[in-house]
Amino acid sequence: CGIVGYIGHREAYPVVLKGLQRLEYRGYDSAGVAIFDGNEINLCKTKGKVADLALKVKNEISTHGTLAIGHTRWATHGIPNDINSHPHFSNSGNLVIIHNGIIENYGTLKKELIKRGYIFTSDTDTEVLVNLIEDVMKNEKVKLGKAVQIALNQVVGAYAIVVFDKNKPNELVVAKLGSPLAIGIGEDEFFVASDASPFIEFTNNAIYLEDEEMAVIRRNKEVKIRKIKDDSLVEPYIQELQL
Ligand code: GLU
Repeated sequence: CGIVGYIGHREAYPVVLKGLQRLEYRGYDSAGVAIFDGNEINLCKTKGKVADLALKVKNEISTHGTLAIGHTRWATHGIPNDINSHPHFSNSGNLVIIHNGIIENYGTLKKELIKRGYIFTSDTDTEVLVNLIEDVMKNEKVKLGKAVQIALNQVVGAYAIVVFDKNKPNELVVAKLGSPLAIGIGEDEFFVASDASPFIEFTNNAIYLEDEEMAVIRRNKEVKIRKIKDDSLVEPYIQELQL
């Protein structure tokens, strides 16, 4: 029910962990993080509280890296357990996603993907979406941003998502319909979150995505916003938040 992401020059995990704590008020049953260390994605997730996650991370994974995403889950599809917690990988292990909301037509999409050889380890609608994105990338030979757009045009439901590709670790792709998503604009760094509270201590410049918008966030560069339906570019409206 909460999402946080960071791409920039700082160690990302402490930013994301603190951000998850700030979003705890939204309610949740599980939590997880994925951290890119320059080579691999280190994943850790658990049923329970953000404090439980922090402990598990300490014992199990390396937290080094300047790109990370984190999630607090309020289960809608699949019981609250470690496996159903986010982030979720695609079958190749290249893509990793966090998602708030519901993919209503996930059953139909899942059947199609299973026919095409995809294997599912969780009961979530979210794992269907990340594999749908991967399938589009493969079949249409498009980059992540385009694949997310094509996939979301096949989706019925509500979402705020953050996804990245371990082969393109300078890019975070985000999209929103029905669930909130804010982008914090720092100096050579970007934050994403369900609301501004996870990044307000770092920057007071924020873009609030509108429904049916997606953004490609490029490390040290730019945020490019498009309409998911018709691909038109949207001029970013940067708000100055009151501290
Ligand atoms: N529908 C997703 C799930 O059940 C996301 C739930 C949420 O918004 O946290 O895993």
